[in-house]
This record gives sequence, structure tokens and C-alpha cells, in this order.
Amino acid sequence: MIEELEKIPNSFVMRDGLDFKFYASGSWKKSSSGKTIVIKNPYNDKIVGAVQACTIEEADKVITMANESIECWEEKTQRERADILMKAANLIKEWANPLGYIMMKEIGKPIKSAVSEIIRTSELFEATAEAGLQQEGEAIYGDAFKGFSKDKMSITYRVPLGVILCIGPFNYPFNLTGSKIAPALMAGNTVVVKPPSQGAISPLFFGLILEKAGVPPGVFNIITGKGSEIGDYLAQHPLVDMVAFTGSSETGKHLASVVGMKPLLLELGGKDAAIVLNDANLELTADAIVSGAFSYSGQRCTAVKRVLPMPGIADKLIELVKKKTLNLSIGDPEENATIGPLISSKQCDFVQGLIDDALRKGGTLLCGNKREGNIIWPTLIDNVTIEMRIAWEEPFGPILPFIRVNSAEEAIDISNKSEYGLQGMIFTENIDLAFNIAQELEVGTVQINGKSERGPDHFPFLGTKSSGLGTQGIKYSIEAMSRPKGIVLNLSEKGKLIKECKYD
Ligand code: NAP
Repeated sequence: MIEELEKIPNSFVMRDGLDFKFYASGSWKKSSSGKTIVIKNPYNDKIVGAVQACTIEEADKVITMANESIECWEEKTQRERADILMKAANLIKEWANPLGYIMMKEIGKPIKSAVSEIIRTSELFEATAEAGLQQEGEAIYGDAFKGFSKDKMSITYRVPLGVILCIGPFNYPFNLTGSKIAPALMAGNTVVVKPPSQGAISPLFFGLILEKAGVPPGVFNIITGKGSEIGDYLAQHPLVDMVAFTGSSETGKHLASVVGMKPLLLELGGKDAAIVLNDANLELTADAIVSGAFSYSGQRCTAVKRVLPMPGIADKLIELVKKKTLNLSIGDPEENATIGPLISSKQCDFVQGLIDDALRKGGTLLCGNKREGNIIWPTLIDNVTIEMRIAWEEPFGPILPFIRVNSAEEAIDISNKSEYGLQGMIFTENIDLAFNIAQELEVGTVQINGKSERGPDHFPFLGTKSSGLGTQGIKYSIEAMSRPKGIVLNLSEKGKLIKECKYD
């Protein structure tokens, strides 16, 4: 780990050995609490490092400084902010390998996926800079309403919101923090990040990256500590102007209930269902299902979490999915195994509980249901019914239920009865029918003949019901993190003034 850290210039400033500091007002600090949160590799339980357990007083100071830094950042031109993001993008790309390695160690993500998450973040910074430069205002005459003329004109442009609190989840600790930081900064806001405790080290590097790219002190800050201890305080702080959060629906709903009257952007859980019709290309479908369900051991908000096959293809599809699942590599994230550890043994217990419940209620085990350390073997369960917890609950682990259905209407009904509404999938050769079904699904996005997934990052990304609030995606995030400011011109006696304006 230290060797990887040494590949990143100046990284020594941010740590004492493997004790990482937090970054505020342009400097790296230890918490006055004297306490740290130890991060262990979920694969082998070895210590990866520790981050500061910051106090409420430190949280207050950081937010106050971020608030006091708004002016210096807002006054920069769009071009200057875009150039800084571009520089940050280059640094992220340059350091992708060591950063990916550190992330792999702290969250047990396969090394290739970890590195590609970093590169994707670099591309997101570039694209955000480009999109920010395209931001436009508008001018509108008042004469669309009776009694108003062209003498009244509204001029609208976008202004930043102020201080944005960005809170990310453990499963994409770098990308889903970066996807909030870049649009927040581009729109002219200052930023306070609270990273997930398990996965806090890799996002801390944003401090180093953004400082080197030219972000002035106080504009970007990252404070570590348990969400349960400092989260509410940060979110409720009167100088925080917006909370951008990705994580579980439970925490998201809690935040919505405590933050009061400030804008919220919430990306939460999902229970994405794949509806497979009788005419689907089964090879393509099975590939999409297996990759969608089991990448990063199913710890993805948009993982395929239910399959609803029609009777004509159910047996064949399930056989193909089983064959491909049995071929998945299992083991060490450093060796790039698809199935690795879940984030904690508590999470493994939860997933095991879902498997046990389904099997007790008559589900048919096709493969898996084996556990070693924090690894759960990819588990397929057939003949799942709506009485089983796995039909409705988000496992965040490598378990995939098949709920056999008899009609498209039944599939739509079961899909929509979920409390979640992130994405849906339809596999068929009949695009007209796919489109009709897509219109009925109560989700943010429907994928036709593809697995559910976020991105490319300029696509809108959103969830309905318990899956979220607001829309992310490059231009959508910039919009969400800024607001229109209107100035109304009330012109008087236009014609008369022109006539009177004579020069001798
Ligand atoms: P989580 O337990 O809800 O934690 C998410 C973040 O919230 C962490 O940084 C956590 O800090 C913090 N937090 C906890 N309590 C808080 C509070 N009271 N106030 C403020 N912050 C608080 O979620 P997770 O286990 O990390 O992530 C998995 C979940 O995220 C899944 O449900 C998944 O579906 C969802 N997710 C959704 C998307 C999407 O785009 N829709 C993407 C990825 C993940 P600590 O770590 O310190 O507790």
C-alpha cells in the first residue's frame, strides 16, 4: 500500500504512515478527537489505513470556511473553473493505477473495475467542464400574457447555490463522490465532502488533486467521520445550501426527514427487474443478466436484482444463466475475480438471511449458498414467489431470484409493486412491444435489450419512489446544483425615448 501511495506525488502530506488526515481550508489536519476509524480490507481483514473521526466542532469550522470561500470561487470565470476541472481530470487519469489499487484494498472491488472507476471519473470531470461552458440563460418578453408588452423582459441566468454537502456510498467511493464534486464546482459552489467510512481513503485524494489543479483553499473540503455521528449535523447545518447524497434508501429517507427546506439530490437503492419475453435473444440476455447481477458481487444500485421470464423461454434461459454463473471467477479482488468479498460480515449475514428465507418458503436453489469469510458464492434461486423477501428486498450481494410469470401484464405488475423504481429491463426482438411495456414501468430508466446500469454519464440518471429524488447526469447535475436568477427589465416609453434621442 505504501508503495502505491509513493507513486502519487506529495501524498505524504496527507498522512502519518497509514493514518490519513482530513482536508479543510487547503491543509491536511488531524482531528482534535484523537480518534480514527480503522479501515480493513474486506477480503482478508488486514488493516488498510485509518481516517480521522472528526468532531462536530470541526464539521462546523469546515462548513463555515466553505461558506466564506464562496465569493472567491464564484468570481472566477466559467473558463477558469473549466480549466481547473480539466487539470484535475488529467491528474486523476495519471494516478488511476495507484488510486485504483488503494480503492481495491479498501472496498474489495476487482482491480480492473477499480481502475476503470477512476478513469471514468477523470472523463466525467472533462465532460463536466465542457458542459459547464455550454450553460445558457434566456431572455423572455412579457407579451405572452394579456396586458403585458415587449416593454417587460425577463433575463435569466444561473447562479450557484452556495455550499454543497456531498455524501457518497462505499460501492463507488471515488466516482460517486466525483460525480457530485465536478458539477458542484463547475456551477460555482464550494464543496464539503463526507465520504463513506469504508471507502474513505480513495476520495481523500480529491484534496490533493484539486489543490494541485488550482482550487483555492476553502473551496473544496473533505471531512471524515461516521455518518451516524456527524452526518445529521452536517446535513442540517444552516450554512449548507444543498445535500447531494448517494446511499441506501433508509439513510436517504432519514436525511430527507431531517434537512428541512434545502434542495436534496438523492440516489438510493433499487430492485431492478429484467422482463424476458418469449422471443428474446437468450444468449445476449443471459450474458447481460449474469454481468448485471454479479459484477462487483452484486454490490451495485443498478444490479439486475430480479428476473421475470415468460414460460416459453424460462427453462432455457435459467439453464444458460446457470452455466454462465458457474463460470464466474471467485476469490481475490487483486487477481480480478468477479465474485469477491462483500463489504462486511454483517452484510453477508443479511444476504444469507434472504437466501434462507427463500429456501424455507420453497425456492429452488440452482447454485451457490456457500460462504467463506466475506465471500458468498453467486446464488441463483428459481421458483421465487412474491411471499419471499428476495422478491422485494435489495440484497446488495450475489443473489439472483427468478420469478416465473405468465404474461407481460403480470411482469409489469410485479415490477411496479416494488417500493423501488430505479431501472427496468425488457429483453425481446419486438421493439414495439418493448416500448409499450417500457411506458408502463414506474422507473427512472428502462433498458431495452441491455442490463441496467448508470451511464454513459451524460445520460439522465434518476429513480422514482424509494430510489431517489432529482436527476443526475452531467448537464442535469450542473442544473440541480445551480438555480435560475431572474432580472426583469421594465422599459418605459420605448418609442418616445428613441425619438427624443437626438445629437446636434
Ligand atoms: P449507506 O449506509 O446509506 O451510506 C451512504 C453514506 O451515507 C455513507 O457515506 C455513510 O457514512 C453516510 N451516512 C450514514 N448515516 C448518515 C446520516 N445520518 N447522515 C448523513 N450521512 C450518513 O449506504 P452504503 O451502504 O454506503 O451504499 C449502499 C447503498 O447505496 C445501496 O442501497 C445502493 O443501492 C445505494 N446506491 C445507490 C446508487 C444510485 O445511484 N442510485 C449508487 C450506489 C449505491 P458512513 O459510511 O460513515 O456510515
